[in-house]
Amino acid sequence: MLIDAHTHLFEIKKYEISSDITPVVAGYSPSSNKKAVELARSKGYPFTLGIAPQTAIKDDISKLDDWTKFIENNEPNAIGEVGLDYKWAQTMEDVEKQRKVFKRMIELSDKMKLPLVIHSRNNPVENKVPKNAIDEIIQTLKGKKILMHFFSGTEEQAVEIVKNGGYISVTHLHSKERRKVINNIRLDRLVLESDSPYVGKTPETIRDAVTYIAEIKGIDAEEVAAKTTENAKRFFRF
Ligand SMILES: [Zn+2]
Repeated sequence: MLIDAHTHLFEIKKYEISSDITPVVAGYSPSSNKKAVELARSKGYPFTLGIAPQTAIKDDISKLDDWTKFIENNEPNAIGEVGLDYKWAQTMEDVEKQRKVFKRMIELSDKMKLPLVIHSRNNPVENKVPKNAIDEIIQTLKGKKILMHFFSGTEEQAVEIVKNGGYISVTHLHSKERRKVINNIRLDRLVLESDSPYVGKTPETIRDAVTYIAEIKGIDAEEVAAKTTENAKRFFRF
């Protein structure tokens, strides 16, 4: 049994999920939140609802009250994906929109007593937009139950997040920094995700994430599968 902690399953066409994978279906905008609820309810899958930073920039955030109400009425397993993305933000106005929406999502998670699934990316270039979205997230969310989806930060940031009670989500993609992160984070704080169809094409790619973690930690793939499943169930409460 494996759990894909983050997939936009409703956006994958002509795909039937394997019986040994449970997907956590993730919304990120008003329209995708609706699709996530419909699919997850019809199949009995866990799901998360949220307004992501890209939506905060692109959509008309004067509707934030309605979007928030929809999430509250549909009782997700977590609020997500939400966060800050300073790679996408082009201006300080974009940054302020993201912060406003994010603050609202944090308040909602407090009100509903739900954990947060976080999207965050740093700004790779020198411009007027702040650089470090991940540090800002760590500071803002101290003491809250969070899962860092498709984590792209450093080993030090990962250690800090886990010290604060957070979880790190791992895709099948390899990199030097990810290897260090996986090596330094306890297995009981790691979960698997495909972020399909955007990162992995389908949830099947979490099988490669299992192999990757097992190889780095020098343990059996079965242990990685069992532990990450346990972790995801604990985090999403199902
Ligand atoms: Zn995603």
